[in-house]
Amino acid sequence: MQATATAPATVTVIGAGMVGTCCALYLQNEGFRVTLVDRKAPGEGASFGNLGCFGIASCVPPGMPGIWRKVPRMLLDKDAPLKLRWGHALRAAPWFLKFIANTSRARVEEIARARQSLLNRVHETLDPLVAEAGAGNLMSPTGILFTFESEEAFQGAAYAFDIRRRNGVMMDVLSGDEARELEPNLTSNVVRAIRVPSLVSTLDPSGLVKSLAALFERRGGTLLCNAVRGFEVGSEGVTAVKTDSGDTAVDNVVIAAGVWSRPLAEALGTNVPLEAERGYHTVFHGADVKINEAILSVDRYISVTPMREGIRVGGFAEFAAPDAPADMRHAKTAAQHGQKLFPGLDAATRSEWMGPRPSHPDSKPAIGRSPRHRNAYFAFGHDHLGLTFGSITGKLISEVVAGKPPSVDLEPFRPDRF
Ligand SMILES: Cc1cc2nc3c(=O)[nH]c(=O)nc-3n(C[C@H](O)[C@H](O)[C@H](O)COP(=O)(O)OP(=O)(O)OC[C@H]3O[C@@H](n4cnc5c(N)ncnc54)[C@H](O)[C@@H]3O)c2cc1C
Repeated sequence: MQATATAPATVTVIGAGMVGTCCALYLQNEGFRVTLVDRKAPGEGASFGNLGCFGIASCVPPGMPGIWRKVPRMLLDKDAPLKLRWGHALRAAPWFLKFIANTSRARVEEIARARQSLLNRVHETLDPLVAEAGAGNLMSPTGILFTFESEEAFQGAAYAFDIRRRNGVMMDVLSGDEARELEPNLTSNVVRAIRVPSLVSTLDPSGLVKSLAALFERRGGTLLCNAVRGFEVGSEGVTAVKTDSGDTAVDNVVIAAGVWSRPLAEALGTNVPLEAERGYHTVFHGADVKINEAILSVDRYISVTPMREGIRVGGFAEFAAPDAPADMRHAKTAAQHGQKLFPGLDAATRSEWMGPRPSHPDSKPAIGRSPRHRNAYFAFGHDHLGLTFGSITGKLISEVVAGKPPSVDLEPFRPDRF
């Protein structure tokens, strides 16, 4: 249902993470009356504790050719960054099989092109929102440095960097010493680095979502703190959203609830292979070692980013139920890797966090109309890139709900592709 001059149609967006909040703002731009509902405050899900990078160099999917040979070994190695809760293994098995099926060279190239089609539009959709929200002070043009502690690791990453280059990412190849000129505190073990200079980070990912949600309210949007439990469906589609405090009538509904979108999509008759790829971080509050850029250690599978509150070190992919208790040993292991990469890194106060990346086995989000209902839309499954993809997803969802042709080809992101 489209907005008209006299009676703007309503849209209820479920989930006030980076993705849902950007959907809400872009739907307002199209003239809809928007309600944004979350059981918590905005930016408290996976969007709270990410590494803050607008990953414009991230067209390469996590599942690369040959990964099937490494997965079993990694699952058995206690220090490896991939974890599977064994109680969750049966449930996750179909996802892993689909994931492996997406790691042929041909599929990887296709997926990278699809991801790049969204990455090309990040800044033109993000920057106006950040400017209007007055959140420019939360942004930092850091650049990103991929580090390698062996020639073998550098050579092993050649294909991934070739994909990036072919997709238009500008990069500089550096020696270890050149990397240390940029990052004097980096360990002498780093022998090679690749720098992408044009990367922007946020110094506070949760603060950024909260600023965007505040903008949504200033523009007249309604922010509700409520848990959504299901839907009323009639012959014309979804008629109401059921919440803990009663039913709310809707003209349109957007599911943007991160990994928790799976049961909501199921309630609307669509099964999606969405798994929680749970990541961990440790923040070294007030650490006095200086780190200038976002750092991604290719050998250690961790990222280190300077944030407003201190230095954040994070990574890991733990497959488990989204709300199963966190195992903070992984946050500690990530922190130890960060300290090996930056030997001076320490702080009296540390905090630890776990959050679930919402991941599809083909490393692409679902963006578009639900397969079953004409007034329900899906905006979830942004895995390692939800911060980055939030604004372009919001723009595309607003176009689809308004009945406009989408400004990016949505075929690769169709919710019914699974
Ligand atoms: C360690 C780590 C590092 C990362 N680093 C980066 C990075 O540098 N760059 C990047 O782009 N991405 C990064 N990511 C990925 C990124 O954080 C996620 O892809 C992104 O936060 C997903 O956003 P979302 O809005 O889809 O989900 P979420 O932020 O999880 O939001 C979903 C919201 O839905 C709400 N909700 C769920 N169910 C209901 C319900 N039934 N009723 C009401 N509300 C509900 C939740 O409370 C939550 O607020 C990282 C992730 C991790 C874990």
